[in-house]
Amino acid sequence: MTGSFEDSDVRQTYLDPLVARLREHGTMEVGRLTLQLPQSFGFCWGVDRALAMVEKARQEFPEQRLWLLSSLIHNPRVNADMRRMGIGFLKGPLAEPGAFDQLGVGDVVIIPAFSAEVEDMLYLESRGVAIVDTTCPWVIKPHKRTLKFLREGFTTVIHGTVGHDETRATCSLVQHEGGHFVVVHDLGEAEILAGFLRGTVAAEEMRRQLHPQAFSEGFDLGVHTLRLGLINQTTMLAAESRAIGNLLRLAVLERDGEEGLADSFRDFDTICRATQNNQDAALKVAGDNPDLFLVVGGYDSSNTRNLARVGDNANVPAFHIEGPDAVAARLSYRDRASGRILEIEDWLPQQGPVRIAFSAGASTPDTILGSVIERVVRLAGENLPLSAV
Ligand code: SF4
Repeated sequence: MTGSFEDSDVRQTYLDPLVARLREHGTMEVGRLTLQLPQSFGFCWGVDRALAMVEKARQEFPEQRLWLLSSLIHNPRVNADMRRMGIGFLKGPLAEPGAFDQLGVGDVVIIPAFSAEVEDMLYLESRGVAIVDTTCPWVIKPHKRTLKFLREGFTTVIHGTVGHDETRATCSLVQHEGGHFVVVHDLGEAEILAGFLRGTVAAEEMRRQLHPQAFSEGFDLGVHTLRLGLINQTTMLAAESRAIGNLLRLAVLERDGEEGLADSFRDFDTICRATQNNQDAALKVAGDNPDLFLVVGGYDSSNTRNLARVGDNANVPAFHIEGPDAVAARLSYRDRASGRILEIEDWLPQQGPVRIAFSAGASTPDTILGSVIERVVRLAGENLPLSAV
């Protein structure tokens, strides 16, 4: 493997000629369809790096069993490819039962781009396994910030998703270092916390409304909400993170006054650049008012989910779909309000000009996006020019 992470052999297998052409031109007319892609979408630097590190590990340890602690990234195709390469999974839905407990010297364990819980890292070290750590440097940023908050006596407020690998790792770090955290998933949950700080929401009400695992063990509402430092899971909706920061700042200002604010509130943006760029670019294409906005990526991918929300904010019909199998007369998509996988009929106008914008999450291979576009074109009764595929 030479050159940049994008040059790795495994990365090359995810390239797609149709997406490459659309990436170059931005739009393409296909019969009555106008296909549009944003300036930034798909695999991020952190994913390219993780894939390149897996490839290097396979070369360095040709005789040893390679394991992934859990999904390398949140995309079913990529994880299935890892299995096809002979890499086993220790945790999550693809885990080989009992494998985690039987690790020993000679095993090689790959830490995913999201990082890992402190307890798992200590266990792996105790078993003497070789560790290949693909943790994205952007994920380290909130870790560093939360440790700074802790040293300065702040509780960490995490704008993130309880149970998401990255947020689980951050929570375990805070707890392991003797600190405290509270996780708010969205603006609605932040409003509950802000209400508590202002004194308009009772403690029991806040406990009831936030996720049961949103608080660190031993979280004392009277003590651990006095000084708050906000960070974000790297893949959240940037606009919402900013709104949450402003909301909590105002609530603390109301509670502690101008002088107290500086001593009791910190706000540090830890959204990663790839997430920010993809969201900004998606907002731009959504601003052109396409008839449809299809966002492609794993249903458990946080950054893809938030990319689809960009369409909502622009009042464009936007659907989060997992891949080409979702594209049929009835479109299968993830409903953002309920999190359920639903189907919708008549989603693709069968006559007249249609402008369709696409985007893809940071963990979505171009090959999947390309297959989605091809299916949509066929379903609309059009054919791609041979030069595009
Ligand atoms: S989405 Fe951001 S934080 Fe996650 S792997 Fe990519 S660059 Fe890193």
